[in-house]
Amino acid sequence: MEFPFEISPMYEGERIRKSDMYVELGGPTQPGFELVVSANKDEIEDMKFTLIGPDLNEMEEGKAYPYAMIYRIAGELVEKDLEPVVERRNHDFQNYIAGYMHLNQRYDIWIRISKSAVQKGLNSLEQIAKATMMLFKNELPFIEKIEATYVTDQAEVEKRLEEAMKIYEERDERTLTLHDEDVDDFYSCTLCQSFAPTNVCVISPDRVSLCGAITWFDGRAAAKVDPEGPNAPIPKGELVDEIGGEYTGVNEFAKERSGGEYDRIKLHSFFEFPHTSCGCFEVIGFYMPEVDGIGWVHRGYDAPAPNGLTFSTMAGQTGGGKQVVGFLGIGIAYFRSPKFIQADGGWKRTVWMPKSLKERIQEFIPEDMRDKIATEEDASNLDELKEFLKKVNHPVVTGIIRDVDGIKITDGWIEEEEVTEVTPEEEAQALQIREQPQIPSMQIQPMYQPGYQPAPQMLPAPSSGVIKLVLKNAKINIEKIIVSKEKD
Ligand code: SF4
Repeated sequence: MEFPFEISPMYEGERIRKSDMYVELGGPTQPGFELVVSANKDEIEDMKFTLIGPDLNEMEEGKAYPYAMIYRIAGELVEKDLEPVVERRNHDFQNYIAGYMHLNQRYDIWIRISKSAVQKGLNSLEQIAKATMMLFKNELPFIEKIEATYVTDQAEVEKRLEEAMKIYEERDERTLTLHDEDVDDFYSCTLCQSFAPTNVCVISPDRVSLCGAITWFDGRAAAKVDPEGPNAPIPKGELVDEIGGEYTGVNEFAKERSGGEYDRIKLHSFFEFPHTSCGCFEVIGFYMPEVDGIGWVHRGYDAPAPNGLTFSTMAGQTGGGKQVVGFLGIGIAYFRSPKFIQADGGWKRTVWMPKSLKERIQEFIPEDMRDKIATEEDASNLDELKEFLKKVNHPVVTGIIRDVDGIKITDGWIEEEEVTEVTPEEEAQALQIREQPQIPSMQIQPMYQPGYQPAPQMLPAPSSGVIKLVLKNAKINIEKIIVSKEKD
């Protein structure tokens, strides 16, 4: 088949702005998903394409449409564990197509097709599907046969999405009984280095990939069939920090594959040597120093979190493949992990998340914490959040003792009455402390959302004389902060 577009990895970083887009498929306003399932060879008609719903040339310019891409694959080496890994490569391969932008994964996909691609002759989704299937077969030779069904009919996408959600759920459930200490190797994923060159995803049984698409089992299956590919085994080596989840083998691997950008990773830590985030995260964790707690916001939540920032604004700070203290990208399934940010208090440090996210993971929140975590219905700004946390006696208010080893990691909030008597020494100390920068660092990172604009408050004010400080690998411990009114 002749394609009216170029196909090359050089188009991977292509971004299509709203003004240049012919149509949008899936994304924030329409349902969408991608799914790969395995089948027997005799069940598949190789390179067959089926479309259910309107084709590109029947769509209205400037509009958004529902979109599902379902592939069935077969081959001697194809096994169920490979489905998610192949599925994740859809993102990769479709971005090779000039004039076609693919973002995110699973049920979060967001596609834009450019006007210029349509002007050059792209008029059917069959052209996209055939090019993608060709790439799958060329790049992953263990796929011997493949067929694709694309769906743009609203009701059909919604119906099939329900079925797909059950499959994603089954995949995530498989790792629940396996833990980091049970295996000798973790697995890497460096697929996103095409746009976040220093990002190295480390996938362990207790930490699913931050895009949520690849579990430890999937990494293992991929490494087996494609040893030169992006998923390589990482021998754990010696345990350095059991609670934080730090291993010598992981550190050595991360140093090598990140080009020396960092040399330590703690898989279950939020503040100290945290895992990097590329930009594909399903959820962003954000530290709020005002309450000494962590909030979490998912991709589908548009309103600002209590810190005043939206998901897309925080995504600009979180992504880029750096260790950003104060922000952390994770996959939703990491909330199920018994080691969920255990170095920093785990659920006891969690103070806020959108209601829809909380409902989705409700059963994995420890019972004694369920009513202590606020949603937008309880608090939409920091003042309301403070009131809520006091009312429910949240551990960030009373102090946190780490569940796993009984060590005290926070003192809780210091009541104003405790600091009314200020000695001259304390005042001098306070004035000095006030000059110290706070985490999170306000580091501006690349953009990952179409139309993303950094919030004005994150940009240095021109001519304001403000100095921007970026702290790398820094941990600040402040025992007490006293703020007192200056005397006239
Ligand atoms: S987010 Fe991580 S695991 Fe997911 S595709 Fe990118 S590099 Fe791989």
